[in-house]
Amino acid sequence: MGRRKRKNEILEKVEIIETAAEGKSLAKVNDQVLFVPHTVPGDIVDVQLYRKRRRYLEGKVIRFHKKSEQRVEPFCAHFGICGGCKWQFISYEDQLLNKQRVVIDALKRIAKVDVPEIPEIIGSKKTTFYRNKLEFTYSNKEWLTEEQINSEEVFKDRNALGFHIPGRFDKVLNIEKCWLQDEPSNAIRNWVKKYAEENELPFFDLRTQEGLLRNMIIRTSNSGQVMVVFVFHKDEKQVRETLLNDFVTQFPRLHSLMYVINEKRNDSIADLEIMPFHGANWIEEKMMNASGDQQLTFKVGPKSFYQTNSDQAYVLYKVVAEFADVKDDEVVYDFYTGTGTIANFMASKSKKVVGVEYIPEAIEDAKENARKNKIKNADFFAGDLKDVFNSEFIEQHGKADVIITDPPRAGMHKDVMAQLLALEANRIVYVSCNPATQARDLALLDEKYEVSKVQAVDMFPHTHHVESVVLLNLRS
Ligand code: SAH
Repeated sequence: MGRRKRKNEILEKVEIIETAAEGKSLAKVNDQVLFVPHTVPGDIVDVQLYRKRRRYLEGKVIRFHKKSEQRVEPFCAHFGICGGCKWQFISYEDQLLNKQRVVIDALKRIAKVDVPEIPEIIGSKKTTFYRNKLEFTYSNKEWLTEEQINSEEVFKDRNALGFHIPGRFDKVLNIEKCWLQDEPSNAIRNWVKKYAEENELPFFDLRTQEGLLRNMIIRTSNSGQVMVVFVFHKDEKQVRETLLNDFVTQFPRLHSLMYVINEKRNDSIADLEIMPFHGANWIEEKMMNASGDQQLTFKVGPKSFYQTNSDQAYVLYKVVAEFADVKDDEVVYDFYTGTGTIANFMASKSKKVVGVEYIPEAIEDAKENARKNKIKNADFFAGDLKDVFNSEFIEQHGKADVIITDPPRAGMHKDVMAQLLALEANRIVYVSCNPATQARDLALLDEKYEVSKVQAVDMFPHTHHVESVVLLNLRS
């Protein structure tokens, strides 16, 4: 096949051979890589190209000749339309193999450093109902499936309570059963939808910015407590109070019911005041500490960050603790600490832990969590790491023996990398939700650090996401 392929060109009987990053799979066509979303290794397909670059091609499946043995029947009725759980058509076993391969591939192709033998990825015991937080959106523009459109049914009422359709900001898929969060999550969502329709409460119109019911956040926790936050578009006291009182009557065991009024164009509630209505302003997560001698309690408020798969967070942190292997006379820095969970988890093992995070409210939560658990050797600081991690910081807190770092998807800033190299802590444990940026950073750290352990952990079954933990040792 020549190089001058026309756009929309169709390639026939292409065999998908490997899993690539970001949930795609790939084939090789002559000397070029072809990315094809929604496929798995072993599929043989006809592909219509929609993107042609010098170094790669991208296209969509228009016909299957053979379906891979990795494929299984998705168990969710919303699969294929909903943006979540996109890997449900792959068996969990193969999902894990694919995730492991993505981690190894990033280390080989991007980091290009020597790596030790890598143990098997740690899967999640729970593969359904593993999330402790979901956010649903109300919309008066329900997304209709092709089946619904082709049916005889007339859809005059288009209210939906569910998830956004990927790439369509104003369309929401109505969810009847979501497999991600334990009950009473489904019961709450379905009850509110029915109640709102019976009482003619207007669902939000994302285009015209009208309507009352806008979003709803449901948080569950491993202590069994449940928090619900209603987001209203308007301040309509009487309607709101009737709804919330009826809600409490229906779900009397609710631990926390709160609401917020969001009149802005965007959905973010980070800058808005969240009002209590019933019960507490928080729920609690419980977790054993790294020494295994104290059960920690973490308060989670309506805006607080907490790892969304509670059980697997503990599994992940145990890997971190094992890799860090902190002695009781050692100082630990916990970078990108969020609400301080890793720092508080590790405190019992160390002389002192210092957590850094740039969201001030998260740092307040971290301090409160330390106080609540009577942890006296954890300090927390709010600030952007690229600005606060400098020689004064090191002087103030003492040189770290171990650094735990858990940056967002973009990885670490170059100034943070430079300071890490200058500090020369004995060990760095690098936790990442993006193997590609982690590998980029490892290549830079290679100057002074060798990769001595790697462990992939799956926190999000049925998605392509994977967590990668790497232990770096200072070269002698
Ligand atoms: N370690 C935490 C999760 C951290 S998520 C836990 O296990 O719970 C990454 C965190 O990094 C977020 O809380 C985010 O607010 C913070 N963050 C992102 N960029 C930052 C920066 N430049 N400086 C400091 N913190 C940052």
